[in-house]
Amino acid sequence: MASSSCPTDEEEKDFGLSKATFGRVEARTSCDHLGSLSPDLIKNPPPHSPCNSCYYPTENWLCLSCNQVLCGRYVNKHMLHHFEDTNHSVVLSFNDLSVWCFSCDAYLDAQLIPQLRPVHQLAYILKFGEPPPLLPNHLPSAN
Ligand SMILES: [Zn+2]
Ligand SMILES: [Zn+2]
Ligand SMILES: [Zn+2]
Repeated sequence: MASSSCPTDEEEKDFGLSKATFGRVEARTSCDHLGSLSPDLIKNPPPHSPCNSCYYPTENWLCLSCNQVLCGRYVNKHMLHHFEDTNHSVVLSFNDLSVWCFSCDAYLDAQLIPQLRPVHQLAYILKFGEPPPLLPNHLPSAN
């Protein structure tokens, strides 16, 4: 009676690393809340501007309605409070230059929305010193 118990240690460790989608999260290509955008977004403050309220130094958000720089939801939520106070819903992240609409509760594709493209490009140039690469799938589709 050979009872061989081979201790095969095949314990596979699955950490369940779901790849977080950095940068290219699903973004809307339209938004009904662009009417209040500031007409002179060209006077975009530099990407390292501190929060206007608490002076948190980095990764702040720019309100595209009034050009205020405020911190995000992981800091002191000053941009969220600003939206609640003013209903300025469209903001741009100085961290990854994504555009968020509080009212849509979604990211917006700044390269596909004509009202957002100039400010996104300007922020990109201020941050990286060169214009953003045009993605091949970002050709305007007339339909
Ligand atoms: Zn919206
Ligand atoms: Zn703040
Ligand atoms: Zn504002």
